[in-house]
Amino acid sequence: MTDTSLVFTLLFSAMLVLGLLTKFYLATRQIRHVAQHRGQVPAAFASTITLASHQKAADYTLAKARFGMLEMAFAATVLLAWTLLGGIDTLNRAIAHSGLAAYGALVPQLALLAAFGLVSGLLDLPFALYKTFRLEERFGFNKMTFKLWLADLVKSTLVGAVVGLPVMALVLWLMGSAGEGWWLWTWAVWMGFNLLVLVLFPTVIAPLFNKFKPLDDAALKARVTALMQRCGFAAKGLFVMDGSKRSAHANAYFTGFGAAKRVVFYDTLLKQLNPAEVDAVLAHELGHFKHKHIIKRIAVMFAMSLVGFALLGWLSTQVWFYTGLGVRPNLTGANDALALLLFLMVVPLFSFFVSPVLAQFSRQHEFEADAYAISQTDGRDLQSALLKLYKDNASTLTPDPVYVKFYYSHPPASERLGRMNPSPESAAA
Ligand SMILES: [Zn+2]
Repeated sequence: MTDTSLVFTLLFSAMLVLGLLTKFYLATRQIRHVAQHRGQVPAAFASTITLASHQKAADYTLAKARFGMLEMAFAATVLLAWTLLGGIDTLNRAIAHSGLAAYGALVPQLALLAAFGLVSGLLDLPFALYKTFRLEERFGFNKMTFKLWLADLVKSTLVGAVVGLPVMALVLWLMGSAGEGWWLWTWAVWMGFNLLVLVLFPTVIAPLFNKFKPLDDAALKARVTALMQRCGFAAKGLFVMDGSKRSAHANAYFTGFGAAKRVVFYDTLLKQLNPAEVDAVLAHELGHFKHKHIIKRIAVMFAMSLVGFALLGWLSTQVWFYTGLGVRPNLTGANDALALLLFLMVVPLFSFFVSPVLAQFSRQHEFEADAYAISQTDGRDLQSALLKLYKDNASTLTPDPVYVKFYYSHPPASERLGRMNPSPESAAA
């Protein structure tokens, strides 16, 4: 082991421990804060939320946070097993000796990625099962049968293989054949792929999992169409999705570009909200478009992946990057898949500490979209819609403020409603 390699091992280990400690610290803060406030509905919500729903939200939040801690500890152990304890190295050796190299340089590399994906997927299965059939089930959110869950798993694995393997093959081919500037080419291809997915997801992939029916409630449709025209949107592509098939959680989203643009309402949302409230939620989604949040998010993703690919381009040529993570690079044959894999494992250890900045932007965008919705519809409808959604999704009204900074992409109810209606009541929250 060279000095650089040892330094990198130490840096990796330090980030792993630091990340885990930070996550545990945040989770215990959240657990303590929610448990302390479980006994009483916050003053601002005293007239709208019952003690029973407040306590259900607290219990749901606590159960998720506790289970999350178990998941984090497991994920850190698995990461250690793949890297310093030799998991990837063993897998790579086995593939190198399997004779797959006879089929060209790409085949063993794709085999490595596929095997890694398969093993990781299997390791995650117990957690996914528990989450759906114990945690969500206990709070009445799960609507899935085991059969549907299994069908989803098979379908998503197939979609992953059909879409993922050719893209991976193209990326590995570019890494191996496009010369020193391969990372720039690969970045361009990767971005093109992402845009393609944005277009194909609503029209091709999502319909594999859910049924999308045109909105047929005439009164609601007229209302929604009027709102969209008022806001300057072509009112086509209004769909209702059978979200109730899997979960009682409600949602609505605006997706796609150009002709593929569509508004999707979960059937659960239409059941919970009255037409005026649905309008207000849609106005909020339109607000994201008016403020160009989607474009901004894509631009940030483009910029961050450019930095990522440049970094990967450099790291993949450094022997210490492999040996420091417990992997012996191949002496014959390409190391591109190894570099890619190790890179994807290491980056989250560092990017986790940037997540509060991204979450802050996201929460800012939610406030802006709320403000837009209020300018286009009656603010009281958005308030009552949000209150219903927070309540029906059992989102806690009393999250820990530091936990919120790291993890919340949407502001907690108290802040969001407080900003809409700065009454003395909500100021007290
Ligand atoms: Zn939003």
